[in-house]
Amino acid sequence: MDQTRDLDLIDTHAHLDMAPLSDDQQGAILRAQEAGVSQIITIGTDLESSESAAALASRFAGVFAAIGIHPHDAALADSVALKRLEGLASLQKVVAIGEIGLDFAKEYPPKSLQKEAFISQLDLAKRTNLPIVIHDRSAHEETLDVLAGFEGQGIGGVLHCFSGDIAMAERVFELGFFISVTGIITFPKTDALKDVVRQTPLQNLLIETDCPFLSPAPFRGRPNEPARVGYIAREISRLKNMPLEEVARCTSANARRLFRLPHPQDQ
Ligand SMILES: [Zn+2]
Ligand SMILES: [Zn+2]
Repeated sequence: MDQTRDLDLIDTHAHLDMAPLSDDQQGAILRAQEAGVSQIITIGTDLESSESAAALASRFAGVFAAIGIHPHDAALADSVALKRLEGLASLQKVVAIGEIGLDFAKEYPPKSLQKEAFISQLDLAKRTNLPIVIHDRSAHEETLDVLAGFEGQGIGGVLHCFSGDIAMAERVFELGFFISVTGIITFPKTDALKDVVRQTPLQNLLIETDCPFLSPAPFRGRPNEPARVGYIAREISRLKNMPLEEVARCTSANARRLFRLPHPQDQ
């Protein structure tokens, strides 16, 4: 997408350690830079991928890491793992705790275990003074309940790959969190989510690829990569009838404020 070359975009949610991205991380980062993506946050899902996210961030300018244990792996969030995450959290380019949260699409791991892992990592975010990246799938009410329990305790963050309605989004904003959207907004039959984007003020919105998953149209079904985050910005500009440059500028400013990222010229 040549037209995004001169923009300053941020992919706030990538999994650079997952195949096929893991086979050519440097290539994926270079292609992103050529497509106007100046910064990428690569996200851990367990201890091992959190360690590799932190290592990647230390190797590449413009790459930052989130560390955490995904609800699918909630059983791994024991006290030893939490101690090791706390150690990683002190590294300079580790900018968030995540992804953490609740995924009730399947009944496994048990809900109570997921909730326990989510809460112990919210405590970790509080102790380390880092924002959180939340995964909420089919668990809207329970996710809001857990976050409400931490209200007023100075924890900020984002509900990534947001899938709720506008009423839920408004509650999320009241709690001081952003929502983030993926290539799903470029798919047909996602009118409800498109409406949420139309109604969400730009200052509450982040963008992400969630690569290697969820490639935007016209790449749907193929492996995704950070270079394609511009397609999501473009769809937001179409839905909100706003210039692409404004969408890029505002969503990047949001991401920089939330994750305390440096300006690209200083990194
Ligand atoms: Zn997720
Ligand atoms: Zn993810």
